[in-house]
Amino acid sequence: MRKQHPDRACGVTGCKQKYDAGGYCNAHYQRLRKYGDPRAGKPTLQELAERRAYVIGEIEWFKTFGVSGELIARELGYTKVESVRDLLHRWGRPDLAELFMDRQEENWFRQWLDGKHRVA
Ligand SMILES: [Zn+2]
Repeated sequence: MRKQHPDRACGVTGCKQKYDAGGYCNAHYQRLRKYGDPRAGKPTLQELAERRAYVIGEIEWFKTFGVSGELIARELGYTKVESVRDLLHRWGRPDLAELFMDRQEENWFRQWLDGKHRVA
């Protein structure tokens, strides 16, 4: 029987799954064995769920400032607004998808983002 390590966490930063073996949770340990890298291969369900929560949270936040979908997509690292809209539909958020495609925009926000990108 495998020993349980209730206090140990998975070695992958941000992963909150239960510790399993070899320094990782089960999903990351399997990938380590399969690919020699715990971060290789397809994202885990937990990673997908976290990405989804992150993207939705960012869009909701940006939209409270009236930022356009184009700008939000760029901030989130997507090249096409349509990909983000399709994702939102797939995630069961047609309301947000519609809001996302709105073209309204605050100029100060664009300037702020442009400044941020220049510095970075
Ligand atoms: Zn993990």
